[in-house]
Amino acid sequence: MSQYDLVVIGTGPGGYVCAIKAAQLGLKVAVVEKRATHGGTCLNVGCIPSKALLHASEMFHEAGHGFEALGIKVAKPKLDLPAMMTHKQATIDANVGGVAFLLKKNKIEAFHGTGKILGQGKVSVTAEDGKVTELATKSIVIATGSDVMQLPGVEIDEKQVVSSTGALTLEKVPDHLVVVGGGVIGLELGSVWGRLGAKVTVVEFMDKILGPMDGDVSKQFPASAGQAGHDLQAVVQGHRCCQEGQGSGSLGRAGRWRCR
Ligand SMILES: Cc1cc2nc3c(=O)[nH]c(=O)nc-3n(C[C@H](O)[C@H](O)[C@H](O)COP(=O)(O)OP(=O)(O)OC[C@H]3O[C@@H](n4cnc5c(N)ncnc54)[C@H](O)[C@@H]3O)c2cc1C
Repeated sequence: MSQYDLVVIGTGPGGYVCAIKAAQLGLKVAVVEKRATHGGTCLNVGCIPSKALLHASEMFHEAGHGFEALGIKVAKPKLDLPAMMTHKQATIDANVGGVAFLLKKNKIEAFHGTGKILGQGKVSVTAEDGKVTELATKSIVIATGSDVMQLPGVEIDEKQVVSSTGALTLEKVPDHLVVVGGGVIGLELGSVWGRLGAKVTVVEFMDKILGPMDGDVSKQFPASAGQAGHDLQAVVQGHRCCQEGQGSGSLGRAGRWRCR
């Protein structure tokens, strides 16, 4: 059984930074990651792909709506969504490749599989093919991040009802996208698809969108989204979303989704 000073479970921004720093300070470090690539939610299905799509969709929107006022005449831009997604994937690949390089450079051993703490100083790694490896370690860091929250009564099929992960890989621009939750992630992804031509409706339980953010930002966002030409409406409380074959539902008090 391999012996380490530190085993870090999860190689998102929390885990890989911790592992690299520990290795630089002289510890013998291993990381365990259940995804095929390192970088966690942020690099694979979060910050990085969403920013790549935000940038690309902003350029698309500017070319169609903002250039003329600046004295730049161009033909109406055409959307090549598969190419935009290829650009997004290239951005992800460059970033996750960078993390793999840094782990290797700092002599950190990387194990791919699901990590489980078996007891004091013992971690098992179950690979996709079922093979189990046991690691012995003086210390363990749990950096397993978070997961998509389910709404009671709503099945996230990643086709018609998508999580933020599914919203990064839609194959066509939806006619109408209802975003449940007016926080940063919902508004980011709503902005992407709004700029690409979807009508976007944001459903928020609280009495304003971007509630925990600076009050001015929260107040200004709907106006600036409108000015940018997005068909983005913030609808607060009591609004309905239809899911084919399952009737409609509404967000009730305490954030519970009620199916009718
Ligand atoms: C669409 C979107 C956009 C975002 N944009 C931003 C942004 O612009 N700025 C920002 O600061 N934050 C943003 N975030 C949030 C950011 O992604 C998270 O805050 C960040 O990823 C948390 O890092 P972490 O290391 O704690 O967890 P994660 O990044 O979630 O990493 C945890 C890792 O642990 C792995 N793991 C879990 N369980 C196990 C196990 N048992 N064994 C092995 N591996 C395991 C997971 O596969 C994952 O790779 C965004 C999130 C989303 C979804």
